[in-house]
Amino acid sequence: MTFVFTPFAPAAVPVQGGAAGALFPVHRIYCVGRNYVEHAIEMGHSGREAPFFFMKPADAVLPVAEGTLGTMRYPTLTKSLHHELELVVAIGKGGRDIPAAKALEHVWGYAVGLDMTRRDLQNDAKKLGRPWCIAKGFDESAPIGPIKRAEECGLTADTKISLLVNGQPRQASTLGKLIWSVAEVIEHLSKAWELRPGDLIFSGTPEGVAAVEVGDVLSAKVDGVGTLDVKIVAG
Ligand code: MN
Repeated sequence: MTFVFTPFAPAAVPVQGGAAGALFPVHRIYCVGRNYVEHAIEMGHSGREAPFFFMKPADAVLPVAEGTLGTMRYPTLTKSLHHELELVVAIGKGGRDIPAAKALEHVWGYAVGLDMTRRDLQNDAKKLGRPWCIAKGFDESAPIGPIKRAEECGLTADTKISLLVNGQPRQASTLGKLIWSVAEVIEHLSKAWELRPGDLIFSGTPEGVAAVEVGDVLSAKVDGVGTLDVKIVAG
């Protein structure tokens, strides 16, 4: 079989810990909307609703190696680029209709991610009933640190997730404050799509989302998983 042009290599994210040196090939990027109560409230909602999902293209990932400073170009068409700090779930075993009780068997590992958002365009889309693609799925909209094997992360309800911007605290929470747990998210998601190895799930952001400017340095962290440092540079 021949292709009419050379296919692109798959988007991929480095892994760390015991599997370091390998790459995790990205199949799809799913994102959960409003999955922490205080963030739902800051966006004008009650915080009590079934989980809902949107997607980013796989090649929206912007992988940043542990201990290095990545760069993200400020995107076009927006004057309000927001950070959303998130735990990212990396699926290693696919399936459909996965019950929550079995869901963690499908998780290969975890990473720290940023669901970067053109908030002004998202607000326009909400008002006009239009899709969120342009607000959420733009190039480099998914900075992500290296993926670590789940069993090496030791995540609990008390695990801290935090984001500093230029050294100042912006977002801080614990995984226990997720409205829908990782296992429940996988249960819901796998009813709508067949999950495949390589899928990434951005699990939702806690409160404290805000705009960043060119020159800002974002330092994201999930205890036990790792760190993600990104500088915003001129597009
Ligand atoms: Mn998000």
